[in-house]
Amino acid sequence: MTYFADLTPYSYGPDEGLAGDLNIGWLAAGMPYTHGSPPEGFITALLTCAARPVRLFRGIHTCDLCGATDVHFDLEGREVYLGNGELRVTARDGTAWTAPTLVVHYVETHGYLPPPAFIAAVMEWARTHLVVRGHLLEELSEASPAELHRRCLEVVDRMRALLGADDPRVIEATATVRLAFAEPSKIPVERRSQHRLWTIIQLLEDVSELGVAK
Ligand SMILES: [Zn+2]
Repeated sequence: MTYFADLTPYSYGPDEGLAGDLNIGWLAAGMPYTHGSPPEGFITALLTCAARPVRLFRGIHTCDLCGATDVHFDLEGREVYLGNGELRVTARDGTAWTAPTLVVHYVETHGYLPPPAFIAAVMEWARTHLVVRGHLLEELSEASPAELHRRCLEVVDRMRALLGADDPRVIEATATVRLAFAEPSKIPVERRSQHRLWTIIQLLEDVSELGVAK
């Protein structure tokens, strides 16, 4: 895995308007990093961010420190895979950090302690963003296709009210819902219910993000 010292300018992924981001947690064997105990709740908050990665790369990053591969955590019933994406958080002053999602493993297993400003931003992100898990995840998993469809349409309505009917995000969400619930369906039968569940989860999380003050 690629090494970058904490707080150096981010340059790893293709530039998607992230110029100005700072690197966090790109650890590698033999390179120094800050050790310490994180505040209570930090690992869960970080895992919550990792459940909404900003970019997924092909292939899986292996932990350079212990060789662990295919690392995943359970977030109240939601399985979060680490090592193939990045997480990004922004502070109120506009500072933004990008970290590999494997950073959760670095903190949990290798005692890595990120800088305090990043920790504060992660706690704030987790507090203000919806990541579907626990009871809500259970409820959605057990809902009928008709009920899921109804909930999806409700979210799209909310997006339309917030953004306007012409917004590309509303148009895309409308198309996504149509694809997921169309009869006959283009989606293979064995993947259909998982696809529908994932559609409502993404929509709920996307719309909650729209409500977060930037
Ligand atoms: Zn490791």
